[in-house]
Amino acid sequence: MGGSLAARLLDGNKIRDQIKAELAGRIRELKAAGVTPGLAAVLVGENPASQIYVRSKVRTCESMGLYSEKIELPKETVSEQLLGLVDELNRRDEIDGILVQLPLPPHVDTKRVLEAIDPAKDVDGLHPLNLGKLVSGRPGLAPCTPLGIIEILQRSGIPIEGARAVVIGRSDMVGKPVAMMLLHRHATVTICHSKTRDLAAVAREADILIAAMGRAAFVSGEFIKPGATVIDVGTNRLSTPEEIRRVFHDPRGPLAQLEAKGSVLVGDVEPGAVREKAGAFTPVPGGVGPLTIAMLMSNTVEAARMRRKQWRVTSDK
Ligand code: NAP
Repeated sequence: MGGSLAARLLDGNKIRDQIKAELAGRIRELKAAGVTPGLAAVLVGENPASQIYVRSKVRTCESMGLYSEKIELPKETVSEQLLGLVDELNRRDEIDGILVQLPLPPHVDTKRVLEAIDPAKDVDGLHPLNLGKLVSGRPGLAPCTPLGIIEILQRSGIPIEGARAVVIGRSDMVGKPVAMMLLHRHATVTICHSKTRDLAAVAREADILIAAMGRAAFVSGEFIKPGATVIDVGTNRLSTPEEIRRVFHDPRGPLAQLEAKGSVLVGDVEPGAVREKAGAFTPVPGGVGPLTIAMLMSNTVEAARMRRKQWRVTSDK
């Protein structure tokens, strides 16, 4: 009722390609000046999703002409070993970006490891110094997924200034930083979490609704104001026909995919509902996901540029 039948699909792959094409020019310039930006990706243990993420980050580096190193460590690795490795990577000049793939095994002190990364090489933007810079509106390296969300909104011409934005989720990696970025661009922002009362009613106030909760198809039609822009960050794997029938209005395609691949990827937003009610939306897959890696590349290039600039400034003295 009252919903637009032709919700606009915000194509993350297309926006990713635009960003990569722009980055290629900046990489060429750096290379002409003798600098090849370098990324070190650290993977601990055998989490299959983490393995896929790291592989595709390293592959993207290679395809864009960046230097990359994948460092794989056994799941028994302890905090001290990781701290030693981070220290070594901090000192190596050819490494501009250090990425420690999360989650780390439970026995590792994740916060200590993230705090050990040189903030100038913190391409995931999770060091407290960089998070502090983000909050206070100073330039610094910021988390990749929120950066990607802002790119999608801006490049799609979705007005942020003055908009009511609701973010569901308050993690350091997604919810909190994207809320800050929207606030700096003059949205009126509400952050929701698992203790929020009457979540659907709060979400329904949003012109821009960001779902970053990790709950398959939780956000139904009653969460969406007709015509709102809905950004679906969630990546959830469904692995039974029952789950698929619950989530998809027309489950035939996804059931065939389950049969062929063993699981189906779904976001935090009900796919049918968002098409019926939203004005614009990001699909899963093919929405926010592709931007995360593009922004990691962008952060690595930026880190390389900033470090050389600093070096030049100090060496000029
Ligand atoms: P997270 O650290 O687990 O945080 C989830 C947040 O959602 C928490 O703040 C939690 O509230 C909130 N939440 C959970 N259930 C809720 C409920 N029923 N009602 C209201 N709020 C609820 O997850 P994350 O790292 O932010 O990631 C969120 C999702 O995005 C995951 O599916 C993840 O896989 C995906 N992701 C995708 C990309 C990408 O590139 N596409 C990148 C990063 C993450 P509390 O704080 O109260 O517990």
